[in-house]
Amino acid sequence: MKFKQTLSILAVTLLMVACAQNPFTGKKTLALVPNSQILPMAFQQYDQFLSENKVVRGTSDAKMISNVGQKISTAAERWLTANGYSGYLKDYSWEYNLVQDDAVNAWCMPGGKIVFYTGILPVTQNEAGVAAVMGHEVAHALANHGQQRMSAGQLQELGAVAGNIALSSDPKKQGIFNQAYGIGSQVGIMLPFSRSHETEADRIGLTLMAIAGYDPIVAAELWQRMKQQAGGAPAEFLSTHPSSDTRIRNITGWAPEAKAEARKYGVTTFRKS
Ligand SMILES: [Zn+2]
Repeated sequence: MKFKQTLSILAVTLLMVACAQNPFTGKKTLALVPNSQILPMAFQQYDQFLSENKVVRGTSDAKMISNVGQKISTAAERWLTANGYSGYLKDYSWEYNLVQDDAVNAWCMPGGKIVFYTGILPVTQNEAGVAAVMGHEVAHALANHGQQRMSAGQLQELGAVAGNIALSSDPKKQGIFNQAYGIGSQVGIMLPFSRSHETEADRIGLTLMAIAGYDPIVAAELWQRMKQQAGGAPAEFLSTHPSSDTRIRNITGWAPEAKAEARKYGVTTFRKS
């Protein structure tokens, strides 16, 4: 009982101190660690990841990843500016890299640090398919899902007090933090997001890809292909992103709204490949 009370007092304190409204979700969410602390760490971990993996440079695939990434990040910035949040991503330092690896995976770290694995390209099939995955992964980062992934228990272990996490050099604490945020080598064994976070990322991702000029219906086709893929070798992306009929149905239903939103930005054509 006493433990529970302590936890709820801790939770209330955190809510009072650390709530910030997220422009993408409209929700008040916990911002336990300020960007000034997270981003330098994420950037450093990202560079380390790139140094330990084979980055593909100069190929048409590598150029496609970078090109789509720029369009998606521009879409996010246009959306924010139009909605009164210009400068919201000022601390972001977008980067888009393709890594030679058979894993069917892709991720976006806090601060806009993106990696696609070559193993996901047969599933994405073309530029619009890449945009669907990119929009979804960027949406997780923009909606601060990493922060919210931390449980009360993990927060206690990290020594969260007064709305701030005491980051330390303790490897165990660092591991919990990295896993929650999807940072560094922990990415490969990243915790899955909750179903509501997946739904949120799907919806935000559709808007981003539509503003970037891609037909959001392609996302439904992509998740259909993911679903067929699921029968084969276990893949990280597929295990953390179950591709259900409900998901595909939702995406199909939301696609027209995403296009309508994009038209407000003067986007009139939507490419499907
Ligand atoms: Zn996801």
